[in-house]
Amino acid sequence: MNLPVISIGRKRSFPPRVTAHTERFWRSLENGQFETSQCNDCGKKTFPPKPFCPHCWSKDLTWAPLGRFGRLYSQTVIHAAPAVFRSEAPYRVCIVDLDEGLRLATLLMADQPPVLDARLEIVALRYLDGPLFAARPLPHSSHLVSELLPPS
Ligand SMILES: [Zn+2]
Repeated sequence: MNLPVISIGRKRSFPPRVTAHTERFWRSLENGQFETSQCNDCGKKTFPPKPFCPHCWSKDLTWAPLGRFGRLYSQTVIHAAPAVFRSEAPYRVCIVDLDEGLRLATLLMADQPPVLDARLEIVALRYLDGPLFAARPLPHSSHLVSELLPPS
């Protein structure tokens, strides 16, 4: 499945370490593809991609596409950021439960906090020096916490 790709006109603040094992993930993400490892013995997918299966310890894995849709499990705003992210603070991060049953943590691109369980999608972020990914609320399918608060 293709991810929406958003161009970011600067370099990444903290580029991920790319290894021989993760190189394919990052190259695919650069092209808007979201992939992970899937076990050929038990069939389960894991994220992030791993060289062995954490469910049955098999080392017989393959690459498989991941769907981009999920639900917001949790979120917070980072005000006191690590030094490398200080220029980006405050920023919102979240935990997403992908529809395929995988849970991942990522940047949440939302000015206002969506309600828990809101529908999200994963997007590819194309920085000048390489890709990252993030989540964002699906338009017209999620409410904001501020809509649930009584008028002040
Ligand atoms: Zn397995």
